[in-house]
Amino acid sequence: MKVSTIRAMLGLLAVVCTMLGGSAATAQDSGSARNALEQAAEAMGGLDRLEALDTLVLTGFGQRVYYQGGGFLTGDPKAPPKWQAVVDAQRTFDLKGERAVYQERWAQEFPFAGFFGLNFARNATLQGGAALLDHPLPALLEALDAETRLGGVSTESGAIVVEFTPAGASSPAWLGIDPRTHLPVFSRWISGSVNLGDLTTTAWFTGYTPVQGVQLPLGLMQQLDWREQISLMFQVDSYRLDVAAEQLPAFPRALVVSVAPAAAQATKVADGVWDVRVGTAGGPVIEFADRLVMFEAYGGEAQTLARIDAANALVPGKQVQAVIVSHHHFDHTGGLRAAVSRGLEVISQRGNEGIIREMVTRPAAYYPDALARSPHPLVFTPVDDTLVLEDATRRLEIYRVVEHAHMPDAVFAYLPKERIMMEGDFGDEAWQLHFWGGALAANIAHYGIAPLTDVAVHGSGPLSIEQTLANDQKQIDAAKEWCRTTEAGGRYVFGCPVQYDTTGPVALEPR
Ligand SMILES: [Zn+2]
Repeated sequence: MKVSTIRAMLGLLAVVCTMLGGSAATAQDSGSARNALEQAAEAMGGLDRLEALDTLVLTGFGQRVYYQGGGFLTGDPKAPPKWQAVVDAQRTFDLKGERAVYQERWAQEFPFAGFFGLNFARNATLQGGAALLDHPLPALLEALDAETRLGGVSTESGAIVVEFTPAGASSPAWLGIDPRTHLPVFSRWISGSVNLGDLTTTAWFTGYTPVQGVQLPLGLMQQLDWREQISLMFQVDSYRLDVAAEQLPAFPRALVVSVAPAAAQATKVADGVWDVRVGTAGGPVIEFADRLVMFEAYGGEAQTLARIDAANALVPGKQVQAVIVSHHHFDHTGGLRAAVSRGLEVISQRGNEGIIREMVTRPAAYYPDALARSPHPLVFTPVDDTLVLEDATRRLEIYRVVEHAHMPDAVFAYLPKERIMMEGDFGDEAWQLHFWGGALAANIAHYGIAPLTDVAVHGSGPLSIEQTLANDQKQIDAAKEWCRTTEAGGRYVFGCPVQYDTTGPVALEPR
């Protein structure tokens, strides 16, 4: 990537250097790879033309899968997917600077708890590195970059596949080329996922059309190597080349990611029960005679390991040995691989066993995580309707969630003596809208339990049941108002009309 920076600064002179570098690579063992890439460049409009381009701007619309496919109704591979609508999208590639700014408006195509996920807010993201490999033009230019290491050439379903590793990259990438047209048909790269380990994405290019002498695809579709999940369906509705500077968007500053370690806070809730939380997510840790049990492996590796470490310091001689996973959604299982790396038994509703097993058995060779560094087999204990963990000191009841439209394969847990309920996604004091607000009361009634306190995974920590229900009702009222105003504005949105208040399903209005 260094060369490209120089190229951007020195212009033509550096282009000559790049070409010399390319010839050197040809002299080595990557001749056939380079040859295939140069044929692709010729087919797309000629290498000189492509390398002379400054900017490429595309606009369009599409749908993106929610949570890589880990946010569906259940973890079943046949569960209905959840999608995000992407509209008013514009992607501006600074080709010589090897960066892009991606702007879009998006909204969830399902009921969601925050306005930011429903109101088609405008976003802008600065992209670089592997994020530019999902379009054939920057991918091909990167493959032909003098600093890129070319690998072998293979075939796949009739396509010529060239392996390449950009300078500084931790994993190889691939470009698939049509042997007749020589146009790129796909690109492929690997990234690290907290839920899925090494995750390979293939971007498919279809509907090539000539734009000012350059062949560019109107159809962009992405697919994961997990469950062959389609992750993006995008249709380009315009391309522009070398756009005048005054028409270009500002490039946002690169985000400086804070590297502060996740700090877990342990708060005593009752004797032998603590709420162990990182920021606004966490859950209880419960002491038994010879071990500790934790609720939820939320957020990610650092967050979950911080909670386990904090819990292990609570009672001398007792360690966390099991984690109860409320449901499979990828935020709630972000620390699952980390938990298994510590040998924790995983307890969840039986319907989640398949997806949990998939998450835990995927390799993380290119982007090693805690589980790759400390492999452990999955020990899974299923909950059908009820599972009781009990010894002489403690009784913890784990129940299958009922009447919850967000997550039918979910569990919550209850300490009958301490009258403490713990749950994920029944609610959150910070939610703005609530579309399944009847679930808390429904589960309390269904199991005949009498909690005084609720500890939600999302939130500040323990709250009284009254306070939790009051928060829910306020959010239900806000959701009803959201439905009213969007309908009045001529837009009918997912989840409307609201079907529940805190006491159960609302009365139907004949229609
Ligand atoms: Zn959640």
